[in-house]
Amino acid sequence: MTLLSRRTTRPLAPHREPRTFESPRQADGQRAPVSTYFGSHVLDLLKFKERLPREAYQALLATLTKGTPLSRGTAETIAAVAREWATSHGATHFTHWFQPMTGLTAEKHDSFIDVNASMPGEAKVLERFSGSQLIQSEPDASSFPSGGMRTTFEARGYTAWDPSSPMFLVESVNGRTLCVPSVFISFFGDSLDHKTPLLRALEAVNRQGVAFLKLLGDVDVRSVGATLGVEQEYFLVDRDHYTMRPDLVMCDRTLVGAASPRGQQFEDHYFGSIPTRVLAFMEEMEFELYRLGIPVKTRHNEVAPMQFEMAPVFEDVNTANDHNALAMDIARRVALRHHFACVFHEKPFEGLNGSGKHSNWSLVTDRGENLLEPGKTPHQNLRFLAFMAVCLKAVHDHSDALRASIANANNDLRLGANEAPPAIISVFVGELISRILDRIVEGAQGEDAEHLVVDMGVGKLPQLSRDYTDRNRTSPFAFTGNKFEFRAVGSSMNTAAPMAVLLAAVADAMAEMSERLQARLSGGMERDAALLELLREIFRETAPVRFEGNGYSEEWKLEAGRRGLPNLPDTPAALEVLRDPRRTAFLRDMGVFSERELQSRYVVALERYIKQVTLEAETMVEILNAHVIPAGEKQLVESAAAAGAAESAPAAAHALEARVKTLGATLGSVLQGVEKIQKLLNETDSMHDEAARARKLADELRPMMAETRDAADRLEHMVGDELWSLPKYREMLFVK
Ligand code: ADP
Ligand code: MG
Repeated sequence: MTLLSRRTTRPLAPHREPRTFESPRQADGQRAPVSTYFGSHVLDLLKFKERLPREAYQALLATLTKGTPLSRGTAETIAAVAREWATSHGATHFTHWFQPMTGLTAEKHDSFIDVNASMPGEAKVLERFSGSQLIQSEPDASSFPSGGMRTTFEARGYTAWDPSSPMFLVESVNGRTLCVPSVFISFFGDSLDHKTPLLRALEAVNRQGVAFLKLLGDVDVRSVGATLGVEQEYFLVDRDHYTMRPDLVMCDRTLVGAASPRGQQFEDHYFGSIPTRVLAFMEEMEFELYRLGIPVKTRHNEVAPMQFEMAPVFEDVNTANDHNALAMDIARRVALRHHFACVFHEKPFEGLNGSGKHSNWSLVTDRGENLLEPGKTPHQNLRFLAFMAVCLKAVHDHSDALRASIANANNDLRLGANEAPPAIISVFVGELISRILDRIVEGAQGEDAEHLVVDMGVGKLPQLSRDYTDRNRTSPFAFTGNKFEFRAVGSSMNTAAPMAVLLAAVADAMAEMSERLQARLSGGMERDAALLELLREIFRETAPVRFEGNGYSEEWKLEAGRRGLPNLPDTPAALEVLRDPRRTAFLRDMGVFSERELQSRYVVALERYIKQVTLEAETMVEILNAHVIPAGEKQLVESAAAAGAAESAPAAAHALEARVKTLGATLGSVLQGVEKIQKLLNETDSMHDEAARARKLADELRPMMAETRDAADRLEHMVGDELWSLPKYREMLFVK
């Protein structure tokens, strides 16, 4: 109340009562345990097993495990079960739910109703959901980015059910909708989405993984998959503040705003007690996620004020990716109910940590063995080292493609910003493993494998987790005991894109290693010795990509240059990789992308970059013209008048004149900045070479925006509070 009365245009640090919500209760009134409603909104295999005739269920299983196509009849039966289950849970509509290249999820709802009008005047409405409606749908694809793969006269795009990810119910205010996870492809079968390449990459990993393991002596392995657990970071901003900032509304990040005196320097937010209102939001969000079968496990404050993280228990990559996309969607919606805006932008606040989506991943066999987990026997440990080599080789050989897979205008503001992984992709493996790898590289020829493995401490590997208590937080790609963590992935991204490239790189590494191992075996070498010799080569070849030091330091940039590691500092530079057929050969060889698809991804990503940076610049011009400059002008008039009025008091007059001078100069910088930004916008607008345009935006427009912002932020400190119309950092970041 007192805060509000000081200035009527915006509330300062508004206090709101946390919102309560009703989750299921037990007979005694206590909230029911999560296990009683976990997955209640998911049509999972267990529910299918209960509802489908035996043969239909077996057919579905065969589709899932062997990729056998579903017969028409079975599809009808499955659709009938899905409709029955969904309508009995209050669903009126269904939708194919897919992940177009916008980075968001997309849905087009259709009602289950069918009007049976066989007899005039006797039309009857009933619920119907056919096998073909389940399997395929045809949304108008012309409004989704396709990078030129779909000409406007051929607007057809198809969504097709991905049976490997379960259907689920989404609850809205007044109804429920059955969502059918789907891929999105063009009439000619080109992928128009993020999921299709991921599914193809998983196939490649399976194919190459099984072959490689068989060569290693694991002859009964039937399949190899990949697991993923994403740590999702996000900011919460009070909705009143959010809606009063055109930059947040338009771009999801602040384009001006002076740093708050209190930022993250006290290091008191990370893992601190979660603000009550935020916890109330998390509880409701988690309730919704649990019903959707999303196993969210951890929640905590992150480093920056009002920054938080959620992480689920890991799942297979495809499911984990769907779940992450869905969780982001749910988080946004539930946040609104709590009068928050949930911000997934990679760098919403200047000077504070940005947000990532640390993608923890590993490889597993059908027996559930984690291939990046050191084992108990020398054989298991040798296998572990073989997969360590696979990962090092994957990143070493394709670090530029990996960099391209995480490139967007937002992440450019985060990578290498001294708080996020640098744009140079290197691998951290920890001291113990480093020592072991170095020993192998240096080891004498012909050293016997079992002896070496035991002797050099590989036997101690199971105690590895202890080595990871003090981890290197500056590496973009770190081994964390029994998994790797790809940290350069941005918080707003769909993980399928980087995971598809990463898994293709892994498959490619396995293919080459299999070939080289096979050559040795065919030459009559004994298996362990052959493997050891191969590992020695691989660890030597990939040594440049291993880096244990401080990834934020300037020395590392120089050192990485000496080692020949690519440093692609921004999106336009990173995307060039996609135009170099030699750099992307592995993506084609592994069947993950066709050349056409790669070119379309290049076009889409470049366009998005241009649109994003242009939008930011336009929004910035508007904010400066409509908010910052008018405030500066008023202050200048007031201060000049005050200086005049203080003529009889020389000390004050002198200081006030100096103030008027600085104020005028700073305002002048802002005005000039606006002009220069506008000029650059006009110049780039008329450029036809998109690559050159993006380059100019990165090299000239963005630095000009940063420079102008700096002047605007200095001005903010000089302008009276009642004249400043934008919510300030300190107001947005310390909501109780
Ligand atoms: P950290 O110490 O990095 O926070 P956690 O154990 O909390 O590590 O795990 C972070 C994420 O990594 C979680 O989502 C977790 O489920 C996931 N994770 C753990 N093991 C694996 C694995 N084998 N494969 C994929 N993800 C994993
Ligand atoms: Mg982690």
